[in-house]
Amino acid sequence: MAGAAAARLRAEIRRRERELRGLRERLAAELARGDTAEQEEDGEEEREREEGARALPPLPARSALSAAEILRYSRQLVLPELGVRGQLRLARSSVLVVGCGGLGCPLAQYLAAAGVGRLGLVDHDVVETSNLQRQVLHGEARRGRPKARSAAAALRRLNSAVQYVPYRGALRPRSALRIVRQYDIVADCSDNVPTRYLVSDACVLAGKPLVSGSALRLEGQLAVYNHGGGPCYRCLFPEPPPPDAVTNCADGGVLGVVTGVIGCMQALEVLKIASGMGSTFNGHMLMFDALEGRFRNIKLRPRRADCAVCGDSPSVTCLQDYEAFCGSSATDKCRALQLLPAGDRISVQRYKELLDERVPHVLLDVRPQVEVDICRLEHAVHIPLRKLEEKDEESLRHLQDRISEEKQRTDGQASVPVYVVCKLGNDSQKAVKILQELPAEEFGSVLAKDIKGGLMAWATKIDSTFPQY
Ligand SMILES: [Zn+2]
Repeated sequence: MAGAAAARLRAEIRRRERELRGLRERLAAELARGDTAEQEEDGEEEREREEGARALPPLPARSALSAAEILRYSRQLVLPELGVRGQLRLARSSVLVVGCGGLGCPLAQYLAAAGVGRLGLVDHDVVETSNLQRQVLHGEARRGRPKARSAAAALRRLNSAVQYVPYRGALRPRSALRIVRQYDIVADCSDNVPTRYLVSDACVLAGKPLVSGSALRLEGQLAVYNHGGGPCYRCLFPEPPPPDAVTNCADGGVLGVVTGVIGCMQALEVLKIASGMGSTFNGHMLMFDALEGRFRNIKLRPRRADCAVCGDSPSVTCLQDYEAFCGSSATDKCRALQLLPAGDRISVQRYKELLDERVPHVLLDVRPQVEVDICRLEHAVHIPLRKLEEKDEESLRHLQDRISEEKQRTDGQASVPVYVVCKLGNDSQKAVKILQELPAEEFGSVLAKDIKGGLMAWATKIDSTFPQY
């Protein structure tokens, strides 16, 4: 009798699972249809999740795959390394993806496709046109929408059986630990140093493995921290780099395929850890050189006994203010440096007036050649900042010649100012300082001023047809 009752119950469970799947599919189709419906559906719920206040229910333990799941995951189920056991482990695993950009998009896509149980998606930003080149989950129609939610909607269309939890704010010290504790594995797909320390410390404190990726220009890196007795991020980098020494993708550029390669490699390590295969990257870092087409594995230093967070007597026992610790902001937005007194800087509006009034001056553009090729003001003299830093004689002579020409045009006026411009107004301030400190006996006195906000301010405030990049 007991056998018959059990069979009835099993049949009932199968029927309800089918019903649930049907409902999820209908929901996914509904969400895919338009943004409005989705916004109504998850608006309130997500506002709470921004704070990380909502506790997530545990994923159900399961002992078998449904026929639909067997069909769906058949190509990976037949791998002896994974098998049904590995797939069931995946279905019970939750992964927190910090950053839904160039790394997070391919990572989340492959994790969703492979059938992990739950994906937490953290991003503070909205989809912008300049993201689309590498952040392949978001489409043109998603511009202006929060990335975390845009990613969740795209992933739901790919696999509606996975639970998606979008967090629309940045990961913050006060809520990070609470959020990280609710997941099994964390993937750092962020783009700034403060977030790397925050995520790593949270993973150590919560005892979670961290699969970390980064990409810049034509190079990428991957490492697995706090796993299998290996080091944490702080073990390798006890002190943050000076903020000026950090280049972000907005400044340095990145090829979308490079973030794609590293994001996929991260997905692979997450899947290996989640399914029980284990990662081979604890204690090793993968370096990818896209130009050479070469991968290298380098052995990392072991865990440090004196590490401030994972060491034997840690001094970091709760999360800190990481922006203060690193002296930089937890976003990839470019820093606006203040290197000069207000008197040495003019606004783009003021510069436009000087231009309209035909006031004699020299405009000096200090951007790298590759950026000058993208767009430029026709009347500017171009000397890259690097040449000024090197005190390159030919460049300085060229500048002096231009100043002299301008002086002659104005019948030897006492001084001709040099207005310095770059993309955003940081490098131009450095250039002004260099020009101000040139020995006067050699170069004559140069009256240099910086144009605040650079050519991007020019594009937004003066000439809307000027390209932004
Ligand atoms: Zn450590």
